[in-house]
Amino acid sequence: MHPWIADRTATFDSSGIRKVFDLAAKLKDPVNLSIGQPDFDVPEEIQQATIDAIRGGKNAYSPTQGIPPLREAIQKQVDEHFGHDDREVFISSGTSGGLTLSMLAMVNPGDEVIFLDPYFVMYPALVRLCGGVPVPVDCYPDFRLDVDKIAAAITDKTKMILVNSPANPTSVTATEQELCDVALLAKEKNVALLSDEIYSRFFYDGEFYSPAVANEQAIVIDGFSKSHAMTGWRVGYVHGPKEIIATMLKIQQYSFVCSPQPAQWGALRAMDVSLHAHVDDYRRKRDLIVAGLSERYEFTTPGGAFYLFPKAPIESGNRFVEQAIDAGLLIIPGNIFSRRDSHFRISFAAPDETLHRGIDILNQLAAKS
Ligand code: PMP
Repeated sequence: MHPWIADRTATFDSSGIRKVFDLAAKLKDPVNLSIGQPDFDVPEEIQQATIDAIRGGKNAYSPTQGIPPLREAIQKQVDEHFGHDDREVFISSGTSGGLTLSMLAMVNPGDEVIFLDPYFVMYPALVRLCGGVPVPVDCYPDFRLDVDKIAAAITDKTKMILVNSPANPTSVTATEQELCDVALLAKEKNVALLSDEIYSRFFYDGEFYSPAVANEQAIVIDGFSKSHAMTGWRVGYVHGPKEIIATMLKIQQYSFVCSPQPAQWGALRAMDVSLHAHVDDYRRKRDLIVAGLSERYEFTTPGGAFYLFPKAPIESGNRFVEQAIDAGLLIIPGNIFSRRDSHFRISFAAPDETLHRGIDILNQLAAKS
């Protein structure tokens, strides 16, 4: 390692994902079911509002906590929904920015952070970056949020429970009861509850529920990246107890500075754009991929987001992904998101034709193994 590189960077790596991208780069016209972002473009009205902001000279730094109209509009929604006295909103540089600031603001070296395995790739890396200890709780085979397993993982070093429903990579949605139980457990044990709700709008069966309803101290992270296909624009938001938010803002001031101002004006417009048609379309895509693969693959039916996390038909998910890539299909090995190497992730945020081609290749591969 180069002598100038800090030790903390050696506590995690990203070689798994790089390997997939390296393999993928060799493919000419892959059937690509690897992408974790919507396949529709940013709605026209949002693009126009952002262009208008740029043309109108709204290109400078915004206040650290975000442009007032966007922050106030989200604060109003949050107040109406949660009705908590001590709950403040700020605009972050994407959901990732909110996650990073949450960890920096709350995790001390040696602190343990509990989350489900499989998990979103950033979780263990960010915990380690802060000197914390990731505590993944295995939730195979059905990927349910089991409060007893979470409770069993709590020690006197536990600082935080991090939940993500709908989840990446499983797309499993926790029930209101499960989330409420975890919310109350965090309260009882006096540990922070962080809820990553980036997929809250992609919810196909029933209503989304936030565990912050049952825990007024919970910190919630959400954003516009996935809901409005604005992944490159970097607009997210965080809400939680004022003192914690003020600490996160202090760090934002000296790091991200602010979310890009023109994109924040786009996000303000996005708040009035209906997502019903897209959500209905993604529910239909969910049904399409579930029907196409259920005969030959084992998986839990996704309740939200846009992923499927099936068990590979051979022992190693990693080796199965190599076979799939050889057959022209790009998917992601489960061990990037997990301590286990038995599954793989498909994204169904893709055109129907791509989904059909992917289903055919996967069924052929399963028939051969
Ligand atoms: N959390 C989860 C669970 C995600 O899947 C992602 C994006 N893949 C993020 C956070 C980060 O989203 P953003 O683009 O808003 O930083």
